[in-house]
Amino acid sequence: MSRLKTTLIAAALVGALVITSACTTAPAGGGRILAFGSVEDDVRIGREAHPQILQQYGGSVGDPAVERYVQTLGTQLKDVSELPDIDFTFTVLDSEVVNAFALPGGFVYVTRGLMALAEDEAELAGVIGHEIGHVTARHGASRQATGTLLTAGLGILGVIGGAYVGGQAGAEVGGQLGQTAGYGLTMSYSRSQEYEADRLGVRYLHRAAYDPTAMATFLEALEQSSQLQAQLAGVSVERGAIDHFFASHPNAPDRVARAMAEAHDKPGAQTRRNRDALLEQLDGMVYGQSPEQGFVLGQRFAHPVLRLEFEYPEGYTLINQPAAVIGRGDNRFLVFDMGRAENAGDPRRYMEREWLAEASLRDVSTFRTATGQDAAIGFAQVQLGGRPAQAGFVAIQGEGRDFYHFTVIAGQIGQAERNHLRAAADSFRRLSTAEAAELRPQRLRLVTVQPGDTIDSLARQMAVDRLPREHFMTLNGLNRGRDLVPGERVKIVVRG
Ligand SMILES: [Zn+2]
Repeated sequence: MSRLKTTLIAAALVGALVITSACTTAPAGGGRILAFGSVEDDVRIGREAHPQILQQYGGSVGDPAVERYVQTLGTQLKDVSELPDIDFTFTVLDSEVVNAFALPGGFVYVTRGLMALAEDEAELAGVIGHEIGHVTARHGASRQATGTLLTAGLGILGVIGGAYVGGQAGAEVGGQLGQTAGYGLTMSYSRSQEYEADRLGVRYLHRAAYDPTAMATFLEALEQSSQLQAQLAGVSVERGAIDHFFASHPNAPDRVARAMAEAHDKPGAQTRRNRDALLEQLDGMVYGQSPEQGFVLGQRFAHPVLRLEFEYPEGYTLINQPAAVIGRGDNRFLVFDMGRAENAGDPRRYMEREWLAEASLRDVSTFRTATGQDAAIGFAQVQLGGRPAQAGFVAIQGEGRDFYHFTVIAGQIGQAERNHLRAAADSFRRLSTAEAAELRPQRLRLVTVQPGDTIDSLARQMAVDRLPREHFMTLNGLNRGRDLVPGERVKIVVRG
């Protein structure tokens, strides 16, 4: 999680959307689409949603060189698109999740997790071109017409509630919390829209004088990454597997083949790949969890920037989201997030008058946590997706008007849930500067392949917890036809 407050999750995103007309022609693709409004309306919608997307994903990478690089690359591609006169904004999100998406009106996002996978600039250009294709073909606009807009006013309880009652708890909690703001705008294209975006991506690659087969080769990389994520999730970790690229971009089985065929149809195609240009940007980039979002370390969550840590009891899987850390247990959730009081006051007053002013709290009492912080605990009936459930709440006094929240939610709160809530609260503590400094992220480093190096010898240098060989191969395209070539550089993951 980042410094965001819960209330941001509930921010209204699309409330201002005015429905004006019903059928129009997309600039790219050319077909009549069922869409509301004009390209100008798209721009307005994108501009309103952009800050929310940044918040939902924990912001941009905060590296001016990388951001400039992607903005320049993206601009080159949109200049050869059907909407060259619109300003596009290209953002690299500080997220380890492999994802890329676009908002209507020219807002395109790639995660650093996705960038790490690309073998060269042409592959990154391919996926950016694909997202530009969604914009120029106005897929977002046509999707709004289907009415999947998110209603405003959902807090964390509401979002979890939907998933909880819906019965597909884990996957949806992560997915929905991660994507709440962009829901109606960035989720789930149709298969035919994916084909069209791939086709447009190939077109822009070709027009910008890149190797047009890079679209297909990067789709292959995304597939490999998806498989690696599934393998990792099979071991124990669920985060990462949650809202990757193919959650918002259905992976029709023949996308790679189609994109390859499309590329081979292009007359006079170039072979420009610009491998070094991309690798320079990736050298030193944070890989995996970042200090700004905090680290999930088994049952423990530690955040060096916010300087705090706590531990969830066994049985909960931790899912780190920008606005909260969700523990998914057996038919129950344990949530950590933060709030700030409007008025000065103790935890009890804060809980009763501000944080949970609208709930009918019962059994409220105060206590001191095992680490010596003032706290209040209370319980309430809550509505989860329109069905009754129970929740227990703890507010812990932070500095000034800051408060830390733990919430346990279940159909019925029994002794086990009470114990879990107290155990989590009791484990909560602030980190010293020295302790925070110890929490260092993994980073990508380039190494030059030496004669005699093998996949195994290089994989041994990977500072990853599990599947180092698979990780190394996926990061370097070695499971999709590339070979280790002495003198060439490859990406490895190091600590610190
Ligand atoms: Zn797509």
